[in-house]
Amino acid sequence: MIFHVLTIFPGFFQGPFEHGVVAKAIQAGILDLQVHDLRNWAKDRHKTVDDRPFGGGEGMLLKAEPIFEAVESILAGGVPGGARSGHVVLLSAQGRLFSQETARRFAMFDELLLICGRYEGVDERVAQYLADDEISIGDYVLSGGELPAAVVVDAVARLLPGVLGNEASTVQESFSAGKGILDCPQYTRPAEYRGWRVPDVLLGGHHAEIRKWRRQAALEKTARLRSDLLKSFEKECDDE
Ligand code: SAM
Repeated sequence: MIFHVLTIFPGFFQGPFEHGVVAKAIQAGILDLQVHDLRNWAKDRHKTVDDRPFGGGEGMLLKAEPIFEAVESILAGGVPGGARSGHVVLLSAQGRLFSQETARRFAMFDELLLICGRYEGVDERVAQYLADDEISIGDYVLSGGELPAAVVVDAVARLLPGVLGNEASTVQESFSAGKGILDCPQYTRPAEYRGWRVPDVLLGGHHAEIRKWRRQAALEKTARLRSDLLKSFEKECDDE
């Protein structure tokens, strides 16, 4: 899968993807991360990509023209007016909330292009006429779309076949398809630390008992921390 990231800060992505599963997936050729400097599509010698908002107001906005031209050029392989491939996502505090379900949907595309906003945001025509999706990573405002883009790349990349050693781990995780609740609590050695003991059932090797305990513990943790998930989970169970 190819991820394109369009940003005014291409250097931002040097660090995050040099570690862990995403770095390994890049090395293995499972994913290709291409970071594009939006200023390459600026028209003037100052490489200007922002301007003041019509109607007044604080700050600057990223202009529509360099973004449209960059996306068209990247996804049509640099052929002006060529057929566009890929799925275009605008990172925006105003977008639909990113979720594991969205990550699964994005993992189906061969090519994903992520547009990172900056300043006070992006000319609305990008959301209206260019982006296929407008996505927020949470109800808070960050100073740019680069961290959200990195979040999306990471969440999608680990769902691609071959990225995680054990495919089953994404099936068992929190929010996984058909589960809808949090993952169960997990422990590792030592079995006792500062007097806090790991639940005995996990040490016993009785697999049916362990499965039962895990399901109950996952439900309890979901009820305690994310009761909203539990409500839709119970509804799904009732509907079955
Ligand atoms: N004026 C905008 C608003 O109130 O919705 C906020 C603009 S924000 C300072 C600049 C850029 O950061 C946005 O264009 C977007 O790309 C990114 N951004 C900020 N918060 C985000 C979030 N929660 N999810 C995704 N992108 C976000």
